[in-house]
Amino acid sequence: MNLADSESLARKLLAAGYVEEPLERADIAILNSCVVRQASEDRVYSKLHELRPWKTPERTIAVTGCIVGKEGDNLRTRFPQLDAVVPIGDYDSFIAGLDARYDWSAGEALPAAGRTGVSHFVRIIQGCDHNCTFCIVPRVRGREKHVPMTALLHECRQAIAEGAREIVLLGQNVDDYQDPEGRGGMAALVREVEQLPGLKRLRFMTSHPQDLEPELLEVMAASDVVCRELQLPVQSGDDVILRRMARGYQTRHYRAIIDRARQLMPDIGLATDVIVGFPGETDEAFHNTRRLIEEMEFDVVHLAMYSPRPGTYAASKMPDNVPDGEKLRRLNELLALQKEIAARKTSRWLGRDVEVLIEGRDELGRPYGRIRQGKRAIVLGGAAEPGQLVDIRVVQATAGQLMGIRAA
Ligand code: SF4
Repeated sequence: MNLADSESLARKLLAAGYVEEPLERADIAILNSCVVRQASEDRVYSKLHELRPWKTPERTIAVTGCIVGKEGDNLRTRFPQLDAVVPIGDYDSFIAGLDARYDWSAGEALPAAGRTGVSHFVRIIQGCDHNCTFCIVPRVRGREKHVPMTALLHECRQAIAEGAREIVLLGQNVDDYQDPEGRGGMAALVREVEQLPGLKRLRFMTSHPQDLEPELLEVMAASDVVCRELQLPVQSGDDVILRRMARGYQTRHYRAIIDRARQLMPDIGLATDVIVGFPGETDEAFHNTRRLIEEMEFDVVHLAMYSPRPGTYAASKMPDNVPDGEKLRRLNELLALQKEIAARKTSRWLGRDVEVLIEGRDELGRPYGRIRQGKRAIVLGGAAEPGQLVDIRVVQATAGQLMGIRAA
């Protein structure tokens, strides 16, 4: 989401005549922030401190992103070197302010309007209408606003015309999507986008187990363009903890979605998020989570230790009663388990032919990209350019990636 917001602001700035420069040569520094965890919020503050010696009266420092919803104008008091605090999406008035400050009348050459790469991120929903007790996102990003399908299709067509091969639809919870003009929900949107001429791949994230429509799985299974990949955070494998988190589903609902997805797409790539040490997580509750991870065999598990975020329901009403040492022990246990599972799962790709959408070159100069199931893959011993779709035969697989040679 942050990347999509940064891209959206960068596009507007480029279209307005600004150019990207390294910090030391730039006039304007804009920090896009995330506050989902305390550590990410702290990074914003330390970056603002770091920028203090860079700041001169002619230079502008601006902050945007979730921290604006959380801290607002307090930021200006705390960091007097800050010139602008920009709410997410409110970029036009910020750019108008910059235009008033900097005189471009000498006539800067306009750069190409786009900066479209292989993948183009499209934000379909801003904000979140859920109220998970641990999460600060609804407070900082606000209630959901859904972008009309017509505008989304226009943006996708334009990105494809500028060279995008893949569209990634983004939202805190994409399954909530409803076209404000009445053309349908997420399944309808995916069906429309995947038919756009020239599009090679379509991905979306993040899904929510409470809202995912069975029809969406069917649309995915029937398409050659939609990636066979689901980012479906479970957060816990214990129903009592799920209720305390106010997630709105039970583990049996989650299992049913995965069963159906695998029935339709046996090799679907699955990623999830799990929090360990949530208030009230007993040994038994933790073991239920462990069991679920073993049983589901996810490709990727984003693991986090619970830490209370001020401003959330859990932080104010639920004592943080799992000791830090125990949280860390549980985290490490699941990390080790998932490493084993991921290695086992990737090894199943050995010898298979897969299609890779090339995104770039790694540090050794080898072309890399992703397969349709979301795994990163490296092409060995052959040239391939970003945006190209190439078939490889997998000859090596580690927990994190596949490697293959061009298939005959
Ligand atoms: Fe946060 Fe829950 Fe909304 Fe996800 S669905 S952004 S965890 S409130």
